[in-house]
Amino acid sequence: MNYSNLHTHSIYSDGNHAPREIVEQAVSQGMSAIGISDHSYTFFDTRYCIAEEKNGEYIKELRALKAEYAGKIDLLVGIELDGFSQGYDRSDFDYIIGSCHYVNFDGEYASVDSSLDGVLKAIDKYCGGDALKFARLYFDVYSERISDMRPDILGHIDLVAKLGVINEDSPEYRRLAVSALCDVLTKDSLVEMNTGAISRGYRKIPYPAPFLLREIKERGGRMILSSDSHDKSTLTFYFDECLALLRDNGFKSIVTYADGRFQEIGI
Ligand SMILES: [Zn+2]
Ligand SMILES: [Zn+2]
Repeated sequence: MNYSNLHTHSIYSDGNHAPREIVEQAVSQGMSAIGISDHSYTFFDTRYCIAEEKNGEYIKELRALKAEYAGKIDLLVGIELDGFSQGYDRSDFDYIIGSCHYVNFDGEYASVDSSLDGVLKAIDKYCGGDALKFARLYFDVYSERISDMRPDILGHIDLVAKLGVINEDSPEYRRLAVSALCDVLTKDSLVEMNTGAISRGYRKIPYPAPFLLREIKERGGRMILSSDSHDKSTLTFYFDECLALLRDNGFKSIVTYADGRFQEIGI
């Protein structure tokens, strides 16, 4: 299959390679499309995002590359819009991914995925040691902010499980996750199957977890593969295995980007 991947990070945020290197790699792999989706600016944590003053340059460079590579590959100008980012004009982008990376405790922000130590401290400090409360605040961002954003692609909906601090078998956790899913899932949105935590050694399975996949399937949700790549070597990482996993959970098709549009293909 000629894969597409619309979730990649370049040196504009926390990726390892320049946009051109990513596009070149995608062309050499025969991919049908590649999207670059660096992290939107988050004023409370500037370690992982596009610098505020670089946003214009980012868009300009990607648009120039898109024109340069037209005919060789579809390059899409994207952004991974964090639930707490503000001031973005969606007409600047071909698509947006809506993702939560932080929870907010009365004005203080804590990352849900950058370090185990940081997450454990946040759970202690803000949630009295209750990891489920942390998960609830995380899923509230999807229900309250990302649902308003109406993104083209729902990013890693259960990222909060990345570092293993949550018992994913807990009925209460699952209830929270499914409730957030119901709030954000629309007939137009695509849900990504995201392999980024596997390539970086955090997880053995992609997001979303199988219990969420089954809920997505039941609600008519459509899936798109992404590797949340921070390195050009992982543009289609674990995609073949994802197809098998989707088939195992009842999916008969995925959405991919090819010939200038999103299209559903049988798997
Ligand atoms: Zn993300
Ligand atoms: Zn990402």
